[in-house]
Amino acid sequence: MGSVRYLHNLLIKREISSRELTEKYLEAIERDNSSLNAFVNVTKNQALSAADEADKRFKNKEDTDILEGIPMALKDNISTRGIDTTCCSKMLLGYKPVYDATAWYRLKEKGAVLLGKTNMDEFAMGSSTENSCFGKTSNPFDLNRSAGGSSGGSAAAVAGNLAVYALGSDTGGSVRQPASFCGIVGLKPTYSSVSRQGLIAFASSLDQIGTMGKSVEDVALVFDAVAGHDPLDSTSDFSYKADTFSSLNKSLRGRTLAVVKEFFEGIEPAVKESLEKAIKIFEELGVNIKYCSMPQIEYSLPVYYILACAEASSNLSRYDGVRFGNRTKEPFTDIQEMMCKSRSEGFASEVKRRILVGSFVLSRGYYDAYYKKAQLLRKELVDAFEKVLTDCDAILTPTSPTTAFKTGRITEDPVENYRADICTACVNVAGLPAVSVCCGYDKKGLPVGMQIIGDKFCEAAILNFAHIFESNTDFNKTTDWGVRL
Ligand code: GLN
Repeated sequence: MGSVRYLHNLLIKREISSRELTEKYLEAIERDNSSLNAFVNVTKNQALSAADEADKRFKNKEDTDILEGIPMALKDNISTRGIDTTCCSKMLLGYKPVYDATAWYRLKEKGAVLLGKTNMDEFAMGSSTENSCFGKTSNPFDLNRSAGGSSGGSAAAVAGNLAVYALGSDTGGSVRQPASFCGIVGLKPTYSSVSRQGLIAFASSLDQIGTMGKSVEDVALVFDAVAGHDPLDSTSDFSYKADTFSSLNKSLRGRTLAVVKEFFEGIEPAVKESLEKAIKIFEELGVNIKYCSMPQIEYSLPVYYILACAEASSNLSRYDGVRFGNRTKEPFTDIQEMMCKSRSEGFASEVKRRILVGSFVLSRGYYDAYYKKAQLLRKELVDAFEKVLTDCDAILTPTSPTTAFKTGRITEDPVENYRADICTACVNVAGLPAVSVCCGYDKKGLPVGMQIIGDKFCEAAILNFAHIFESNTDFNKTTDWGVRL
């Protein structure tokens, strides 16, 4: 229901037009977005004219892509030409990029219909979509709970049936954790497989654009469309050709999944129970389970937070009120004071905290003790993953130690919030791909996410694990929100 393939069939058979489909979504957004706050900007006119263009191509029976005419959403840190791209920060309110991010450009070329930009934690820093200058996003399963973050708006839009699929960004878990909280599928691709051109930088060695959808198939289709070399991003891989969709449905018999004990420590009992059941399902499907240990995981959070903050402090220095970002309207006497006032007004507290930590770990007296040590440990973590993945096809972990938490918790204890990234941040530190897929529900009816981590450029393998699991289970519940088609 509501999948890309299903909608594509309706479109090519002309049982529905892209305009009708888009109008349905726009009406649903008008009705439900005030409750969910998934969208911060609805691009109604652009959406309708893109839908009309798609309809022309359908009418003329031109060769249409499977994504043609399908309504979707983009996280608000992905640049859209002429359309506000704010990172949900006061710093960038009113900023309209003069170019499209490559990932969006590729979708646009295939006829995707952009419904709007989605809510996020300011500059993608956070795990609950509460650090946004547009207010928090609510979880479609329970409005008092977080949709996760930082791509919580994209996750809530998809889970709340306000968009068929969405793009998010993942620096330490921001696609997978909200996908897990909202019961959808989220893929964080291998570092360098999707161009970062036009993705507003948080931590450049960790950031990747990821795809979010209702099913593994949808996520694979969209990933195949956005991945691949981009001359505009010198870190994008030259040779990778993504072809994950056609590799779905391969038997898992004889494959090996690693279960690393460190990922199962300190997780909620309901999460543990669902994961244990998932392991049994994989065993029934003929998968060998290999239990092992990676003591290096203990260091992954300090390493992640040191590196992410260091890179953020450097990346965010461009917002100085001259080159980019808010310029204070207060009087000032010199440029220092102008920058200080502009930055103090533009950034909220989580971003400021990270800039301070980042500047500290990069400062001359502390560089060796923190930044350099973190880089050395990063290498150890990369090696540890490599070792496990030499013997196994993929690693199975929870996506998050908990199901969706109540909103409001985050402001009480930010460090507690950092700890919840334990299963996801290490994957970005190692540059690996990982997918989160729903594997059960807790007693409150909240979705539990399972993460499958693969070796570099093995998106096809992890998506196949997720797809076969999804096809053999029935965890893909839909919510009462949005379009039911
Ligand atoms: N929660 C993590 C953080 O706050 C991850 C964020 C992300 O992936 N963008 O840094």
